[in-house]
This record gives sequence, structure tokens and C-alpha cells, in this order.
Amino acid sequence: MRVGVLALQGDVREHVRALEGAGASAVPVKRVSDLDDLDGIVLPGGESTTMGKLLTLFDLLEPLQARISGGLPTYGTCAGMILLASEVLDGRSDQRLIGGLDITVRRNAFGSQVHSFEQDLTVEGVGEVHGVFIRAPWVERAGSSVDVLASVGEHPVAVRQGHLLATSFHPELTGEGRMHEFFVNTLVAKREDS
Ligand code: GLN
Repeated sequence: MRVGVLALQGDVREHVRALEGAGASAVPVKRVSDLDDLDGIVLPGGESTTMGKLLTLFDLLEPLQARISGGLPTYGTCAGMILLASEVLDGRSDQRLIGGLDITVRRNAFGSQVHSFEQDLTVEGVGEVHGVFIRAPWVERAGSSVDVLASVGEHPVAVRQGHLLATSFHPELTGEGRMHEFFVNTLVAKREDS
């Protein structure tokens, strides 16, 4: 399984390590040609407005939109979740998104004082996961085709819609590997189906 990690910003090395731990071969994605022959891609956290700008600057936004809307399995974490969302609250008016996931997210939703916190979660289909939240978004609206896999209070923080998976938290920082295994297993299942 060949899985790309968008390598414009964020914990690229940690995602690569976690994907390899899950049995995939992980490749950093910096240019359009890196999108060739991928079975899936991870969009790391970082700062979603900056990532949107970098995607435009590196001529990656439209090719990535085309691949993702064409069915490339994608896992967005934190800012990566924001990039996948169809709508963002508390974003900047010029914020560029990849879109495709029928959710409305609120940026920095847990409050500006609460820059970061950790919480154990039960993620449907995955099990117990230690969630590390860093200036994290939450899902304020999820479309009818979106499954909520985990919530903090009443706010969804892990969702799935077909080939798109997104979490508000950073699974690459805990060394657990469960979310990456879950994602890689969906790629294996998809290949076996086709
Ligand atoms: N607050 C960031 C944003 O709005 C996301 C933070 C993160 O990815 N850890 O893009």
C-alpha cells in the first residue's frame, strides 16, 4: 500500500513513521507528480490557512481536489480535517479548502485559552484512542452521509464519509498507531474489493 503524506507543513515524519508501522509504504507529497500511484493520502495538521496558501503556491490544490473527489482515500487530521471540510466557521475569508467532506467545522473551537488538551476517546471501528488536541476544530454540522466515529461532549471529533476520514486530534503524536492502522486497513479492504 503506497500512502502519501502531504509534506508542506506539519508532522510529516511522524505520519510517515505511523503509516510504515501500519504496514504501508509512506511517501512525502510535495509536487503533483508525487500524487501518482497513491493508494491513499494523509493531510497532516498545521495551520489550515497557511496550508491552503502553500497548496496554491505549489500548484497542488486543484490536482489534489481532482484526485480526492475522484475517490483517493484521504485521512485529514486537525488542519487536514479543516482542508477537507465543505464549510469552515471562524476561518479567514480568503481561506482555500480542498473540500469534499460534507461537514461544517469550527476552527480553534475549544476556545482560544484551551490551546491544547488530551483526552481518551472511543472511536467507532477503532477502539480506545488517546486524543491529542492542539488548537483543534470540532464538527459543528455533519451531513447525512457522514458517520460520526467519536465526539468530545456533543461535538464530533472523528468522522467518516465514504473514502474520507477526518479527526480533530493528532494521532501521529501518541505512538499508538491505531488510527493509521484503521486507515491503512480501509485501503487494503478497498483493494481486495476491486
Ligand atoms: N488551528 C489550526 C487551524 O485552524 C489547526 C491546528 C492543528 O492542525 N493542530 O488550521
